[in-house]
Amino acid sequence: MSDSGPYSTLFEPVRIGPVTAKNRFYQVPHCSGLGHLRPQADAAMRAMKAEGGWAVVSNQESEIHPSSDLSPYSENRLWDDRDIPALSLITEGVHAHGALAAIQLVHNGFHAPNLQTRAPALAPVDHSLSIIYPKQARGMSKRDIRDFRLWHRNAALRAKQAGFDIVYVYAGHRMALPLHFLLPQINTRTDEYGGCLENRVRLIRELLEDTHEAVGNTCAIALRICVDELVGESGLQSQEEGRAVVEMLSEIPDLWDVNISDWSNDSATSRYESQEGYQLQYMEFVKQMTTKPVVGVGRYTSPDLMVKLIKRGSLDFIGAARPSISDPFLPKKIAEGRIDEIRECIGCNICASSDILGVPIRCTQNPTMGEEWRRGWHPEKIQAKVSDSDALIVGGGPSGLECALQLARRGYEVTLADKAKQLGGRVLVESALPGLNAWRRVIDNRLYLLQQMANVQLFTSSEMTVEDIIGLEAKHVFIATGTHWRTDGIGRTDRQPVRTDGSVEIISADDVLAGRRTGQGSVMVYDDDQCYLASSIAEMLAGEGFDVTFVTPASIVSPWTENTMEQHRIQADLIRLGVKIVTGHQIACIVDGVVELSCVYSANVQQLSFTSAILITERTRETRLYDELERSTEARALIAHLELIGDASSPGLIADAVYQGHMAARYFEASSEEIEPYIYRREIPSLTHHTENEKWLKPLENELDDQDLGDRPAWKNANRRVDPVPYGRESRVVDTSR
Ligand code: SF4
Repeated sequence: MSDSGPYSTLFEPVRIGPVTAKNRFYQVPHCSGLGHLRPQADAAMRAMKAEGGWAVVSNQESEIHPSSDLSPYSENRLWDDRDIPALSLITEGVHAHGALAAIQLVHNGFHAPNLQTRAPALAPVDHSLSIIYPKQARGMSKRDIRDFRLWHRNAALRAKQAGFDIVYVYAGHRMALPLHFLLPQINTRTDEYGGCLENRVRLIRELLEDTHEAVGNTCAIALRICVDELVGESGLQSQEEGRAVVEMLSEIPDLWDVNISDWSNDSATSRYESQEGYQLQYMEFVKQMTTKPVVGVGRYTSPDLMVKLIKRGSLDFIGAARPSISDPFLPKKIAEGRIDEIRECIGCNICASSDILGVPIRCTQNPTMGEEWRRGWHPEKIQAKVSDSDALIVGGGPSGLECALQLARRGYEVTLADKAKQLGGRVLVESALPGLNAWRRVIDNRLYLLQQMANVQLFTSSEMTVEDIIGLEAKHVFIATGTHWRTDGIGRTDRQPVRTDGSVEIISADDVLAGRRTGQGSVMVYDDDQCYLASSIAEMLAGEGFDVTFVTPASIVSPWTENTMEQHRIQADLIRLGVKIVTGHQIACIVDGVVELSCVYSANVQQLSFTSAILITERTRETRLYDELERSTEARALIAHLELIGDASSPGLIADAVYQGHMAARYFEASSEEIEPYIYRREIPSLTHHTENEKWLKPLENELDDQDLGDRPAWKNANRRVDPVPYGRESRVVDTSR
């Protein structure tokens, strides 16, 4: 990766304290839904980033103590020595590819409900939890603060023992206790940790100094900090205290990892922040205030822009979370001049939704994400074909395109046919909705690659029939014919069709997406899908001047989008656009030009008049061709492999469709042990023997007796680590087989 032409700047080594990064590509800490519950999967995923050329690969936030327990979410953990082996898996995997491993130590303060450990939650002052749970965080005493510093120092020592090269002090995203101390809206203490900025910064300064003292001889110390909360005067602002904090701590950390808060701002969806580097305006000043290297994120995927940012002194490292998920091999592709092959992040936040739902990470663009260990999938490698078979794919949506691409990469002769004039299926129409243009990258990347391949034929405006398929003598057929939206109102809430006399025109979502409109008038968008599409259509129609009323049985607009961290923006946008919102109501009937709505709680009824209605409730799988092939004796005699994939098999997210297409291609002509696609390697808790926990608890009890709880941190008086809150815990086995 030495000569990278116009992008050589990106491949210069950069010193960070006592360590050196081999280039400027820096994967900042990001959640994965793998964490302490799935340590081998986590390690394999991080190792893949290192293999892809990232100079620094960070893990996700690592809880330093049982009072920072984010259960049921699976972050990394560093509560005691028993967590070291799982984290060593990460460092070993990352180091094997010549990258530096970074760890983000975290105490989540009032963001941690401690549901598993039942420990008290902690905060600068008494404070409600940030999740809805009937419990409050305790304002920390001086002794609590001393304990916290001790836990943090112990975690740093353990991180070093696990092999990490960079150790983070984390004060970002409104999720970290040190940031809670910094913010005057939260921290109203009157002692030396509250009041003036110097006092509120004190804890961050102490943590940096403690960490330097503990591990700084061999590890670089990074500070990840929010410099703006995007809430004006009611929060931290980059031109006010954000700048002052950087000035005060300027040379103390070895590296500044700067972001904006909260997480939904720092990882905004492309629907609301479409430009690369949208955060730069808030944090570009940092480079002017320190000689230490600075990393910042911005969903960067364009190497020209990356070079520009380095050369003009905005950043030292190109930080990335989502672009590294979407394409773990982004640095290598830039180094090798394969820019057009970069699988660019589309900013959909399906990755974030995995963490929020407590399941392993997934990605719309990269179906191998999170599958590196449990399925052994590699984003850039795939097993070669096992025969000279050819394959026909009917349907050029996300699943069909992905299936065709992977089959072609395996070496099969591939024909893809779609009845539409353009390939892309649902992505083509959905990406035309307001703000969703970046979603087109799902098509663009795959189509570009398919068009380069000699073993691929692509046909548009080509509706396939059973006779056509028999005529082609296609022996291996994948049907990716997608879905269409119902118009009868059957959905999540109502399982009976809506009663209507036809007096209000009902337009299908597919027709609206295809451009069909009625004349001006009032439109009801009824959303019982409760995901993202209905609010997008309402936004589009309101933007076109229609009088739109959004009706949903849900209690908020588009509840699914809380998982992609954009629900609050979507509802705000509809209000701004003048869309009338009726929540908690379902359709009772549509008669005499009137829609009768009934309250889902009280059954009280209200009547509203509309010219037309768009009912977005549920999709119907388009399986006609598949069913006809199944029924045809001639086809059955000819076709050796017939498979329904994507939405036609199981309607879901675009990410699900891509994943299914990928899996179908991977397992095509697989050996008999591999053909059950839903069996994968699992990490299963072992039953820790009681005496093992006894062994663990005894010495800690003794240490507790010895602890100095006086004014000075206990570690000043003891050469060993002490852990005031030991737990017996179930351990995890290292290996399980399929
Ligand atoms: Fe980007 Fe979406 Fe993949 Fe996340 S899931 S990395 S936002 S493409």
